[in-house]
Amino acid sequence: MDRKIAIVTGGARGLGKTIVGKFVQNNIFTVIVGRDKKKLDETVAGFPGMTDSIICDLSNLSCIPALVNDIAKKYQHIDILVNNAGIHLKKDLLEVSDEEFQQVILTNLTSVFTLSREVARLMIRQRQGCILHISSMAAHYGIPKVIAYTAAKAGIEGMTRSMAVELSPSGIRVNCLAPGFINTDMSAAALNSDPERKHKVLSRTPMGRLGTPEDVANAAFFLVSDAAAYITGAVLPVDGGNLIGF
Ligand code: NDP
Repeated sequence: MDRKIAIVTGGARGLGKTIVGKFVQNNIFTVIVGRDKKKLDETVAGFPGMTDSIICDLSNLSCIPALVNDIAKKYQHIDILVNNAGIHLKKDLLEVSDEEFQQVILTNLTSVFTLSREVARLMIRQRQGCILHISSMAAHYGIPKVIAYTAAKAGIEGMTRSMAVELSPSGIRVNCLAPGFINTDMSAAALNSDPERKHKVLSRTPMGRLGTPEDVANAAFFLVSDAAAYITGAVLPVDGGNLIGF
């Protein structure tokens, strides 16, 4: 039990990959879950001996119990789960089909519940563990054209509080990061095609810049570390003040 074992979903690129790097730097062995074998292999090769990967499409919920069992068998314990994987859909509300809405909810919310439930079963037996969700500014104010994403991220924040209360007696902490506008592929796709939105984002961010993946990874590491031992059920904005910007 000397070395901590973490799972980071969607850890082969974007924010997830930077979180993996931060964990590895701090001697946390990290199992990365994603769909893209090539990206997973490249990422694992970049952190020799400190990472492993498992291919899994998390929107296929029936695969999740076996995924967790396999990791538990191989590594005996799971200390940290970071539910980072997510998809984005930017479209006028009237154009979003029921199937598209369901797919975003399935990937960004339902799979987070299912994976957390399965990992919590093990963490309850261990009497310790940390679960970290990733939400978004979309959960805090009304952003047009991201209806399904907003619904999912608002759900994540509610689930953070409910899970934290229910799992606290078992020694499990559950927290959530709410990144503001961070410079990644996902945000570039949403902002670079829409200069007006980009201007709006920056003009209401008191720190006047987009966040870096490192800003998010540092906060993620803090929340799963012993330095945050008395913090549970919290939603921490990592947003350069965007949430309180005037
Ligand atoms: P990216 O699009 O760069 O990465 C998303 C990751 O999620 C990929 O590694 C992808 O893996 C994985 N993923 C997506 N769907 C599935 C699935 N069905 N099963 C398994 N893995 C999946 O996103 P970001 O790094 O920008 O975002 C990471 C998280 O942070 C998301 O939850 C996002 O909502 C949130 N966030 C991001 C912000 C930003 O500004 N970037 C702001 C606020 C929140 P694969 O490539 O293998 O499919």
